Amino acid sequence: MPLRLFNALSRKKEIFKPSKGKSVSFYACGPTVYNYVHIGNLRTSIFNDLLRRVLELSGYKVKEIMNITDVDDKTIKGSRDAGQPIKDFTRYYEKEFLSDVKSLNIIPATKYTRATEHIKEMVDIIKILLEKEYAYKSGDGVYFDISKFKSYGKLSRLKKQNLKTGARVNNDEYEKDSARDFALWKFKKEDEPSWPSPFGSGRPGWHVECSAMSVKYLGMPIDIHTGGVDLIFPHHENEIAQSEAAYGKKFVRFFVEGEMMSVEGHKMSKSLKNTFTLRDLGACGFEPLDFRYLTLTAHYRSPLSFTWGSLSAARNARKNLAEKTLAAPKSDKKVLRKFWEDFLSAVNDDLNIPKALALVWKAVGKDEILFADKILGLGLGKLKKIKAGAKLEKLIKEREVLRSEKKWREADSIRNKILAEGYIIEDTPMGARIKKAG
Ligand code: AMP
Ligand code: ZN
Repeated sequence: MPLRLFNALSRKKEIFKPSKGKSVSFYACGPTVYNYVHIGNLRTSIFNDLLRRVLELSGYKVKEIMNITDVDDKTIKGSRDAGQPIKDFTRYYEKEFLSDVKSLNIIPATKYTRATEHIKEMVDIIKILLEKEYAYKSGDGVYFDISKFKSYGKLSRLKKQNLKTGARVNNDEYEKDSARDFALWKFKKEDEPSWPSPFGSGRPGWHVECSAMSVKYLGMPIDIHTGGVDLIFPHHENEIAQSEAAYGKKFVRFFVEGEMMSVEGHKMSKSLKNTFTLRDLGACGFEPLDFRYLTLTAHYRSPLSFTWGSLSAARNARKNLAEKTLAAPKSDKKVLRKFWEDFLSAVNDDLNIPKALALVWKAVGKDEILFADKILGLGLGKLKKIKAGAKLEKLIKEREVLRSEKKWREADSIRNKILAEGYIIEDTPMGARIKKAG
């Protein structure tokens, strides 16, 4: 059953096959580490993970590179506001991002690549662009000349008459209506980090890192490039221009981009101050996988509006699905085979996860559900552990009631029962805590 993906370059669903045998080169635009990532960012990370799981289930080996933007306008400002060296500041948020990734059952990238560790590669590509006259030096930096790259705007379908050729934009982020020559390198400023280069000390613009790192680790063309739709312009457009102008080859075969998570009709974004993090959700009693479940209910190309009500519904659904899995009988072989076919045909049709999830709800046997979980990633196969957790929780609560009634002997006997489960209970000012014995 062929895998079909919506390719933003052609704006059509196309059959996907890697260009080389069974291995897929996969580049994902990663986070800018200047704050805790929000759940909108994480929706895109989960979409990325689903695509990767579907590719792996099809028998492909995926080499996934994800960049970490640890120097740009936002990280520089953030570290300055925090009064911290930029490296300490960004490493902290990078670590937190990777911990969010883990708690959401996202398969980690093959390699995470930091912008600050690839300055040489960025300088090299800028040198080529200057030599080929796709780039020029101005007073405050080196710019890419969009009028020289004839197909500039092909991904976002920019109208030629809207291109402000000759005009420059120095910010890393800007809107479609101000498509201009963009900064590849920004000359040194007093209070900014900088690196030497043959065209003057400075630091890279945001877009060039993805061109430099992707060609280093994946070559050209990349089979699949992902990100959110908000990156189509200017980021992905600029990546195409830089890479194709420098190397004269096609940059990417499939651009696959995920829709946004919104709140009350607006994109969830730091600048609108309408973001939530996994920590905020945790503080309200939700587990990371409740959020993962929520994202599975919408197709990746549909906007998903975040509400606390829908998150609650997702939590209930996940709990019910976990219980259903636990109680489900072993599957009949024939039924399992039919389920596989239907499930694969849903996920191979441009990742129709909501349809696949509906099939799981209809399934009767345990093996169907566990097979589906290879893609869904809800940890349904780890139910025994969840059950053990529930048992411990019950014992702790019973012990607390006994202690409040000053029934010390009975409370101690529960302590022993907990020990028999392999845990030690400790009383702290915050209440009872358990840790693994031995
Ligand atoms: P950034 O840190 O802004 O570069 O974003 C990291 C990733 O999150 C990119 O792939 C963005 O497309 C994605 N992203 C940002 N905001 C949202 C949102 N509201 N919903 C879904 N994805 C988002
Ligand atoms: Zn990128």
